[in-house]
Amino acid sequence: MSLIQEIVRRVKTGETSAVQMAQEYLGRIDALDGRIHAYLQVLKDRALSAAERIDEKRRRGEPVGRLAGVPIAIKDNMTLEGEATTCGSKILEGYRSTYTATAVKLLEAEDAVILGKTNLDEFAMGSSTENSAYGPTKNPWNPDCVPGGSSGGSAAAVACGMAAAALGSDTGGSIRQPASFCGVVGFKPTYGAVSRFGLVAFASSLDQIGPFAQSAADAALLFDVLSQADPQDSTCQVGGIPGGTISPNGASRPMRIGLPKEYLSHEGASPDILGAVQNAVNVFKKQGAVIKNITLPNTRLALAAYYIIAPSEASANLARFDGIRYGRRVQSLKPAPRHDTGSKVQSQQEESELVELYRRSRTEGFGAEVQRRILLGTFALSHGYYEAYYGKAQAARLAIAQDFDRAFQGVDFILAPTAPTAAFRIGEKANDPVAMYLSDIYTIPVNLAGIAGVSVPCGFSSSGLPIGLQILGPRGSDRKVLAAAGQFEQWTSRQYFSDPKGVK
Ligand code: GLN
Repeated sequence: MSLIQEIVRRVKTGETSAVQMAQEYLGRIDALDGRIHAYLQVLKDRALSAAERIDEKRRRGEPVGRLAGVPIAIKDNMTLEGEATTCGSKILEGYRSTYTATAVKLLEAEDAVILGKTNLDEFAMGSSTENSAYGPTKNPWNPDCVPGGSSGGSAAAVACGMAAAALGSDTGGSIRQPASFCGVVGFKPTYGAVSRFGLVAFASSLDQIGPFAQSAADAALLFDVLSQADPQDSTCQVGGIPGGTISPNGASRPMRIGLPKEYLSHEGASPDILGAVQNAVNVFKKQGAVIKNITLPNTRLALAAYYIIAPSEASANLARFDGIRYGRRVQSLKPAPRHDTGSKVQSQQEESELVELYRRSRTEGFGAEVQRRILLGTFALSHGYYEAYYGKAQAARLAIAQDFDRAFQGVDFILAPTAPTAAFRIGEKANDPVAMYLSDIYTIPVNLAGIAGVSVPCGFSSSGLPIGLQILGPRGSDRKVLAAAGQFEQWTSRQYFSDPKGVK
């Protein structure tokens, strides 16, 4: 039985209570999070009263949900009514959400218990969680290393048993890459399978919410709960696409696996990673899968296209954080009074004071990486450059999506590394944006194409850090991708998973 199934069984039978379960996880947070810093906010009272309500329901003999008493953490770029949502940024200090994100509501409707909000790179821009304005999260396997990012807090919390599962968001790899760095399962659903309502937008055509879990079975259970059409998000109409498993060694035909040469010959990939992925391929082969070499020729365009498209969308999405509608306002300047005579000189002065207010609020409120993206995006969209940059990037995006379409005509899944290296040291890439961007070279094409991808633990580096295998499937193949990850987990006896209770 998987961890979530076990918790639900114990809560439903009364073997344990939801309150006890919440207390157990809150206790681990108390004991460990001083060292790991996975949480920005622990919602102890909220969690305990939610757990109390679930126990009460059970005592009255009412049915409880599919996630009864399961303690879950959410990335702090998703809203929860009445609570802070910081997005890891100073600019949202003091902001309280007035509504709850659909994904979180769906979890709560199944009686999950929300433990708190987890740390992230500011506005989900980064690959290490070092871009959080509230300090980095540490990798539970080695606290000198990053947990990956941007959903590093969620990954670290699940890896060391400070949550049974967590939600993250993945725009270019932010669920899969930290999952691979922390030795847990991280799943990016097909674009549009999970509502983004209440997720603070980074790059709306790429953003997708998904689960972190201790097994593919748990990720699949969470995906079932999360994957509902939502009238509040017009891109979320897919809903529960029927799925199932493809037998690797029987049924109607064997599983067909594609190995993209562009991912396996990349010079940036460490030998540890390539070795672990090759071993994983051998496991599939031994189980009867047919392995085919494939090509995704436009892969080399992915990073460049992403770093035009994502910052362009971000520059528009982040325009609302101006110190007036949202966000912190600089103290020394107040917006100009509106009761004046209406003279031209005065209104010009008001206007320039307002611009100054925006400028200073945004300069003080946003960190360096977010400012870099806003500048890049504003430039790429500006008159005279739009076609040269944004137009070209869209063409590259289409070519990348077509590469995958073509490949999936001949294979069921594609196997690839999740990241070119295992977790790197805190500070190692912090001052080199391009080195940081390269962490996502294997995950970004998946977002550009809108397809489904999971990272499942498949080995360890020479220094004992986890390595993730990416399993990719076409749009709508979410359940099949998760089933394949579950099979891999069984074939390898879960030997590459973190032992959440054993983390130092
Ligand atoms: N690391 C990538 C970036 O900084 C992806 C981030 C994400 O998926 N949110 O844009």
